Amino acid sequence: MTKQAHVVVVPYPAQGHVIPLLKLSHKIADYGIKVTVVNTEFIHAKIMSAMPDHKDEELKNRVRLVSIPDGLGPGDDQRDGVKVMESIRRVMRGHLKDLIEKIGQSEEKMIRCVIADATLGWILEVAEEMGIEQAVVWPAGPGGLLMLPHLPKLVELGVLDMNGTVLRNELIILSKDVPAWSTTEFSWCNTSDPKLQKIFFENVLSINQSIELSTWLLCNTFYELNPPICQLVPKMLPVGPLLTSDEQRHSSGSLRLQDSTCWNWLNEQPIGSVVYVAFGSTTVFSQNQFLELALGLELAGRPFLWIVRPDLTNRSFAEYPDGFAEKVAGWGKIVEWAPQEKVLGHPAIACFFTHCGWNSTMEGVSSGVPFLCWPYFGDQFHNRSYICDVWKVGLRLEYDENKIVSRVEIKNKIEKLLSADDMKANSLNLKEIARKSIEKGGSSYKNLERFVQHLNSDED
Ligand code: UDP
Repeated sequence: MTKQAHVVVVPYPAQGHVIPLLKLSHKIADYGIKVTVVNTEFIHAKIMSAMPDHKDEELKNRVRLVSIPDGLGPGDDQRDGVKVMESIRRVMRGHLKDLIEKIGQSEEKMIRCVIADATLGWILEVAEEMGIEQAVVWPAGPGGLLMLPHLPKLVELGVLDMNGTVLRNELIILSKDVPAWSTTEFSWCNTSDPKLQKIFFENVLSINQSIELSTWLLCNTFYELNPPICQLVPKMLPVGPLLTSDEQRHSSGSLRLQDSTCWNWLNEQPIGSVVYVAFGSTTVFSQNQFLELALGLELAGRPFLWIVRPDLTNRSFAEYPDGFAEKVAGWGKIVEWAPQEKVLGHPAIACFFTHCGWNSTMEGVSSGVPFLCWPYFGDQFHNRSYICDVWKVGLRLEYDENKIVSRVEIKNKIEKLLSADDMKANSLNLKEIARKSIEKGGSSYKNLERFVQHLNSDED
């Protein structure tokens, strides 16, 4: 009897990476392939504490969750991106190699493929050294895949310097069928620390090599959503939308405990009435902006479910406007973290007020909800262009010169969005296409099947 194939999956240690790579792992496991997901000890502990009901058996099952050290000490700040990146690059390589060797010794078959987050190129080098096939996952908006190989050209043209600093603000148009990028929105420029910017820029550039090195480029999208990009980016294999499967049960990959009280609250709200307000895992508002947002929700006067993480503002705790809790008590629900994908599928949800992170975008698209867009950084601006200008399923918010969105703008756009029947119709249409793409015979279904058949075969 031949033993089942076994793959190792390595996400970047952040929420927006762990969730989609875990979903992908479960999809691969659906085909009888054994999957070991390797997180840092810090992330692993968070996943475990966010699923208090899990049975230990689940961790040894078809998708096995394991951890290796990230090299940081208890006193080190895990939110310090540079420190995390430098440290994991230094120490994880050796630990991963040991882990793969250990798996190889205990099994008849060696690891068949290492599937790594595209931002962890050095993981692929480990696989290469060990003679194991490599695949990368791009968990962000696919627009970035078109821009990445163009970055060295922007340096050559003097639009950027070697450290990624923008020398000339421009709108970059790479194809008439793909929204333009503004150089003011490049992800590595979202910091005032030049050292941080340089490291981020180098890391972004290194993704080009990772993609070149790997045989497969798996993407959380579906062909029908972005045909020009899928045609223009070599190797790209859209296998999304990556949704939580029944088999996945507790292990959603959430790093925070999901507040389930919002589900009962949603059950009590009229169908299509609730504004779901959530800005992902990393967005940080100034206290002024936070106040204006709260007042905008109050002014809109509609039921809302608002995710307020303890670190959503740049203060140690968010301060609400005076009397806010009392005023909205009958129709507003605030929780620290929710089961977002499930929430978006609740019939009470009317629209999704979002930062346009790619996972949120795909979850919203798959649920057929229109979007109100307030991007914060990185690919979120480009994702917004898709939502508002290409798919026509959302509206953008306008800022003032201090980047503050006013309460009146928030109220007006919520009203406009909820009365836009065409946008609702477009959203439902897109949902239908998304669901079809992952059903048997659909575009993403076939792509994943092709990848998995390859893993189950003995050819390289
Ligand atoms: N999420 C969640 N509960 C929340 C808010 C967000 O589970 O209350 C999940 C969401 O479903 C998504 C991820 O966190 O899968 C956020 O990823 P995204 O790419 O949207 O944004 P990021 O956090 O990377 O900025």
